[in-house]
Amino acid sequence: MTYSTLTQPEFESIHLFRGVDHTAIEHLLEECFFHQLEPEETLIAPENDNTHVYAILSGVLRIHLISPNSPAIIRLTVGACVGEMSMIDNEAASAYVMAESHCRLLVIPRNTIWRMIAVSHYVARNLLYVLSRRVRATNEIVTESIKRETLLEQYAMVDSLTSLYNRRWLDEYLVRMMLRCHRNQQYLALILIDIDRFKQYNDTQGHLGGDCALSALAKMMTRHLRPGDAAARYGGEEMVVILPGSDLAEGQNVAERLRLAVQNMSISMTDGTALPSITISLGLSIMTPGSEITPMQLLSSADQALYQAKHEGRNRVCVAPHVNFG
Ligand code: GH3
Ligand code: MG
Ligand code: MG
Repeated sequence: MTYSTLTQPEFESIHLFRGVDHTAIEHLLEECFFHQLEPEETLIAPENDNTHVYAILSGVLRIHLISPNSPAIIRLTVGACVGEMSMIDNEAASAYVMAESHCRLLVIPRNTIWRMIAVSHYVARNLLYVLSRRVRATNEIVTESIKRETLLEQYAMVDSLTSLYNRRWLDEYLVRMMLRCHRNQQYLALILIDIDRFKQYNDTQGHLGGDCALSALAKMMTRHLRPGDAAARYGGEEMVVILPGSDLAEGQNVAERLRLAVQNMSISMTDGTALPSITISLGLSIMTPGSEITPMQLLSSADQALYQAKHEGRNRVCVAPHVNFG
């Protein structure tokens, strides 16, 4: 290739040559050559050796991380270059580079780049710039994927209607909290909550009305929690509150305050239409210090207490039998 075959505009379009005096590297450009790619043709693959840097003179290249079929992470246009990383560290390429359209590339052999750097510091500066852009782009991709992952984890643990934690989360959290309180010789109170005659509420107010009541209840529960407390949607219209460190008196106090707050709570549809109020029944169970009660037993005794609250007429707090009788 003679320098005259690389036009002046083409030379100036290549990011690697920005600010470089072309006469200084003209003799090195003689060592370069051109390469054409058809659309979807592979230029670089991790399984193939690469000893060149490619600068795009026309067309678009795509970079794919896992396979040529995975979504492209970057599209490169005229002036950009690829292959510079394996040139510097002598390692195999870390990604697939594919042509998105017909491409014309300037191919610069690895040794030629090093000689260009020796002749012109601008080439070195431009190469560093290209690399830092690449690192930045990669960081953005990693950040995005971590954000997506965190969001997915959250979706798996949080109930979408009430924004309370879900049962999956509660099952894990309860085990951890009970262990911690057991180790620290502390009480733990668990309250199981069920809306009274909710089937009827749904029948008269519609399912959407029922959903609004559920959301209002969740908000009210959250408002009543202290920093160490936790609330979860246990299923349908059953909720659980965990109060680490709370004994019977404190558990009863929180449960009773919550019952009253819910009874007096106003509920409305999303358009502001007022809905009838609801009441809740609550079953309270306590893990006493030194007790060997399991999470299943604690939940099931709260359920028995809840059943009793329903049986006694609803809108009340009942305490689990094992708490009352030792
Ligand atoms: P009780 O006082 O004995 O608890 O009577 P109830 O009618 O509330 O009986 P139960 O607790 O068995 O009823 C649960 C009802 O909750 C049935 C179901 O339609 C309703 N429900 C469960 N999940 C949802 C939900 O996400 N949205 C709405 N709107 N309703 C729900
Ligand atoms: Mg129920
Ligand atoms: Mg109910």
